[in-house]
Amino acid sequence: MDGKVASAAIKEKVKQLVDERKARGLKTPHLAAILVGSDGASETYVASKVKTCGELGFNSTLIRFDSDIDEATLLQQIEKLNQDEDVDGILVQLPLPKHVSEEKVIETISPAKDVDGFHPVSVGRLVQGLDSFIPATPYGIMLMLEYFQIPTVGKHAVVIGRSNIVGRPMSILLSSQLPYGNCTVTVCHSKTKNLKELTLQADIIVAALGRPGFLTGDMMKEGAVVIDVGITRVPDATKKKGFAIKGDVDFDSVAPKSSWITPVPGGVGLMTIGALMMNTLAACERR
Ligand code: NAP
Repeated sequence: MDGKVASAAIKEKVKQLVDERKARGLKTPHLAAILVGSDGASETYVASKVKTCGELGFNSTLIRFDSDIDEATLLQQIEKLNQDEDVDGILVQLPLPKHVSEEKVIETISPAKDVDGFHPVSVGRLVQGLDSFIPATPYGIMLMLEYFQIPTVGKHAVVIGRSNIVGRPMSILLSSQLPYGNCTVTVCHSKTKNLKELTLQADIIVAALGRPGFLTGDMMKEGAVVIDVGITRVPDATKKKGFAIKGDVDFDSVAPKSSWITPVPGGVGLMTIGALMMNTLAACERR
């Protein structure tokens, strides 16, 4: 499953919808991103989100703070964006410095502008099967399943990882009644016993644990669909940047046995931004 192809199609669709809105004199979607500190990966993610906004005809605002910013100032800034009529979507790039409560930050974002889908209201709506902002990475995976028309109904999906941003929402979506849901889902985490016994039964495996090369060919059955969410920077002197990006799947042993597999890089990561843009457009339309 080539993320370049699928994400290009999503972005093209979003761009068309934005162009149509503009032609009808409707508001241009506006995403506001807050970046605290200068972590390399966070800088890269935010830069590519802002760049994609430009490519798709969205307005964007990037607000930067030093890593020693106090929590109250950050919360005030979010409140300001909540009140700003022109801003449709707000995202605060995670992780945040230790002295700032991610929970408070997420809960301060207005649910109407919560395009990352991390607010408890968004999560609650998702769990109940109501219209909601879906966290961008699992949403991107659902869009990928749809793009490549991967059958999911009645399949056994094993999700490795239960984080709020990937594993947990992924397991909810796959077990939902959405067109690319209706799976029987097993959720695994660091306390799971006999993980290999479970992955060997899976028709679909989503690896989202942050351990490079964790899932190997001997842990899966022939013909399974494998989705690799992992992104870990591994030191690599042969690369210009000094590191390589590794997924949670050992591609060489898994790819020959799988019916479909997402590469890293070039897979799920690219879908994530497309999904964020879909959420921002939806936020604009709803408001
Ligand atoms: P996280 O918050 O660290 O969660 C990791 C999850 O994996 C936890 O639930 C943990 O279990 C579980 N886990 C860890 N070791 C395990 C093991 N040996 N066996 C089974 N489960 C294990 O990570 P995350 O934020 O979900 O991210 C996971 C990976 O996806 C990372 O590599 C991250 O960089 C990547 N990611 C990619 C994208 C993208 O756009 N492609 C977006 C977000 C994240 P416990 O709950 O028991 O601790």
